[in-house]
Amino acid sequence: MHVVVIGAGAFGVWTALWLLRRGASVTLVEQYGPGNSLSSSGDESRVTRSAHGPDDLYPLWQRRSLAQWLELAPDLFVPTGVLWLAHQDGGFEAQSVETLSRLGIAHERLDADALRARYPQISTDDVAWGLYEPEAGVLLARRAVAVTARAFADEGGSLRIGLAKVEDGTAFVDGEPIEADAFVFAAGPWLPKLLGAVPGLEMSVPQQEIIYFATPPGDPRFDASHHPTWVEYDAAFYGLPSIEGRGFKVAPDWPGPMVDPDCQERRISDERVEASRAYLRRRFPALADQPVAEGRVCQYELTVDTHFIIDRHPAFAGGWVVGGGSGHGFKHAPVVGEYVSALVLGRDASELAPPDDRFALRPRTAGLGMRTAGFAPDAAR
Ligand SMILES: Cc1cc2nc3c(=O)[nH]c(=O)nc-3n(C[C@H](O)[C@H](O)[C@H](O)COP(=O)(O)OP(=O)(O)OC[C@H]3O[C@@H](n4cnc5c(N)ncnc54)[C@H](O)[C@@H]3O)c2cc1C
Repeated sequence: MHVVVIGAGAFGVWTALWLLRRGASVTLVEQYGPGNSLSSSGDESRVTRSAHGPDDLYPLWQRRSLAQWLELAPDLFVPTGVLWLAHQDGGFEAQSVETLSRLGIAHERLDADALRARYPQISTDDVAWGLYEPEAGVLLARRAVAVTARAFADEGGSLRIGLAKVEDGTAFVDGEPIEADAFVFAAGPWLPKLLGAVPGLEMSVPQQEIIYFATPPGDPRFDASHHPTWVEYDAAFYGLPSIEGRGFKVAPDWPGPMVDPDCQERRISDERVEASRAYLRRRFPALADQPVAEGRVCQYELTVDTHFIIDRHPAFAGGWVVGGGSGHGFKHAPVVGEYVSALVLGRDASELAPPDDRFALRPRTAGLGMRTAGFAPDAAR
């Protein structure tokens, strides 16, 4: 069976690799190169954590995916742990504690005193408690995609740099029709541009900014050796300790203006820098006056409910639509690939299937999933 996968972001490279390892002949088509800086997978780092509120499937996919990332490239995982700063009982973090306990996934609940004692560099006086995931951490994202693409090519896959288009039920690469038994459209935030109007493919593509603040000279307290990755869900901020000296990564996590990923100017805004600095002043005061070391401007590919899309294209024969990572997709890419490859090749995929129709092309309403979709700037505290 010959399969063409369009898009060599995290979802596309892992789908291509799994298809190849399951015996298909695979061509992976990518316009800018695997791990390119315009793609959603193209930043230095992405968080991998199990906590996902009351949901069982994403923690299980995350654990299984992390094992695959580690098998492929152990050096691309940085075991920082992930600390959630909680303001209430009964919220996302408390639901996550219940789920992690039920699934037997390592975690600690830290009361306010324990938080203060363990992390004196974080100002936690107004934080009620913390959830710590010791086995969670960071994937070196851009490089991890490139390494996966290299494994694909080394194992006999064909990687083709070219621009794909879809018109009237035919796929083209650089203007020439391309034939295959199946197509996987894994174009991330470009999916609406590639496929046009498809029922149920409702996706917004907001600009997101990431700001790396320099850590104080000679002070390792904010490096990965001393500091966890952290998420303050109720404040719409999360971030990473400094890894390889890149700086303390701060993500103001509310949607920016809608963008075209081919055309947007990727300059960080004063507004997001100032919002991040105000947040640092409150939570990480020693960093509040540190200079910006660098910034990244990216985009989410957000579905309405932040669940991924994995479904047959309703009109393109042999076509599959795979995307909608919605701010939490990167970590799951290996299992996305495993699952999609089983579906495309007609294998039994029941072990990985969700208990519901969350991944289907269907009308969606906001509610489940991560909170990335719903924040406005004034919601940030
Ligand atoms: C700021 C930010 C922070 C995030 N943080 C996290 C996190 O901490 N943890 C986590 O798990 N996830 C996180 N995510 C989400 C995660 O990064 C994405 O869900 C994931 O990387 C999406 O991968 P993808 O392969 O679907 O898309 P992409 O990585 O965008 O890949 C799509 C590829 O398709 C190619 N392409 C598109 N159209 C064409 C065409 N016509 N022809 C040829 N090639 C084409 C593009 O060039 C691109 O390389 C974050 C996302 C952002 C933006």
